[in-house]
Amino acid sequence: MTTHVRCGTLFTGDATPPRAEATIGFGDDGKIVFVSDTAAAPPIAVADTVLDYAGLFVMPGLIDVHTHLAYGNAKSEEDIDLYQPMEFRALRALFFAQKVVAAGYTALCAPGDAGQVSLSVRNAINFGLFEGPRVTAAGRYLTTRQGLTDWYPTWIGVPDTSIGRLVTSKDEAIEEIRVQVKNGVDCIKLAMDGVQTREDGSLIAAFDQDETSTMVREAHRLGRKVVAHAVGKEATLYAAKAGVDLIFHAYYLDDECIDAMLKSGSAIGPTLTLQRNVIDFTQPHEPAYIKERPSATARTYEIGCANLQKARKAGVPMLTGTDSGFAVTPYGEWHALELELFVRDLGFSPAEVLRCATSVNARFMANGGRIGVLETGRFADFIAVDGSPLENIAILQEKSRIRHVHIGGKRMQIPERGYDPRQVTDKSLSNWTDLYTQQRVRELYPARRHLAAAE
Ligand SMILES: [Zn+2]
Repeated sequence: MTTHVRCGTLFTGDATPPRAEATIGFGDDGKIVFVSDTAAAPPIAVADTVLDYAGLFVMPGLIDVHTHLAYGNAKSEEDIDLYQPMEFRALRALFFAQKVVAAGYTALCAPGDAGQVSLSVRNAINFGLFEGPRVTAAGRYLTTRQGLTDWYPTWIGVPDTSIGRLVTSKDEAIEEIRVQVKNGVDCIKLAMDGVQTREDGSLIAAFDQDETSTMVREAHRLGRKVVAHAVGKEATLYAAKAGVDLIFHAYYLDDECIDAMLKSGSAIGPTLTLQRNVIDFTQPHEPAYIKERPSATARTYEIGCANLQKARKAGVPMLTGTDSGFAVTPYGEWHALELELFVRDLGFSPAEVLRCATSVNARFMANGGRIGVLETGRFADFIAVDGSPLENIAILQEKSRIRHVHIGGKRMQIPERGYDPRQVTDKSLSNWTDLYTQQRVRELYPARRHLAAAE
């Protein structure tokens, strides 16, 4: 039996120009059996089904290469690491993964999560227990004392429930990679920098070149890809030279980094959305604002976009991902903002960025050869959109326009269900953002007589 999908406009995700009046056919196994002009399509047999999406724009399901399934829309590092038990995080991750699907995303990479949460969600979906996106999963980030995820003092260390795994030698790093691969991760995540800077403000790489190359070599030997968090120049360069498959952020890259990326084949996932939302959404009363994070992020954003444009012109592949999973990047809400930012701030055309979010992203994903392009033999992972993202890329952010989402041919029906973040996520103990000395209280409440009298 074949399902015939009548498309108003068909965008296949590869270099083929979009065309009107096309039909896709897929079989019971969820794989595409033909893509054709409707007039020339195979005849409809009695047992066949026809889906009339003739008024809609049909394209491959979108892919987000940076969605942390286990973070739970965290407001703090403690929310990510400490309070909720691993078992609850897994259930919550599945709930949120379905919200990502409802936004038109049929696949995602979870590049770093505590325990085995992401790969368990991946397996539960792959084994047919639940509906959800195709997940490419990493385990805990490998980090050192200088890297992201080792954010507590040395006398606390990195707890077992954290998203990080502190390794203190090359041997320990190799052992952790082997453990994670045995557990079934698709990729290894390295925290290449993140917490410590030099006097001039430059970020210190968490691993040196030799350590980085050793870890990448071992992960590749075991048939796994490597992704890295690298914001500073030094970390970006080491990651590129070592052949990390996907480098996230890379805002301070320079020509040396670009040369190394072109040589080793590293791609960049800028994740502009998290940065943009930190700048645009953080309110003056929030700790992040008081710590001047939005203004610091705005400076990095400007430098980053200029550098990323250089890398793009030189031919470094760019992948779209959002760093969803934080309170400023909740699941299912801002994934397609990344596409708008690629157009607005990196100079991509809408067609180019649609290819990034589908066929280019697919090349990085596990079993990527079976998704990302609507062509015979690949899975029928597609969405039907009310309106043309080629005319206005921002419409992909409007949930009501994502009319149908199919994964392996099957139409996803995700119930619209709200939740209370205080129960589901927020457990962090931070209560106040100011220090209420008598002087400070007088500044805040000049009219309070009894304190004035105390002078
Ligand atoms: Zn991230």
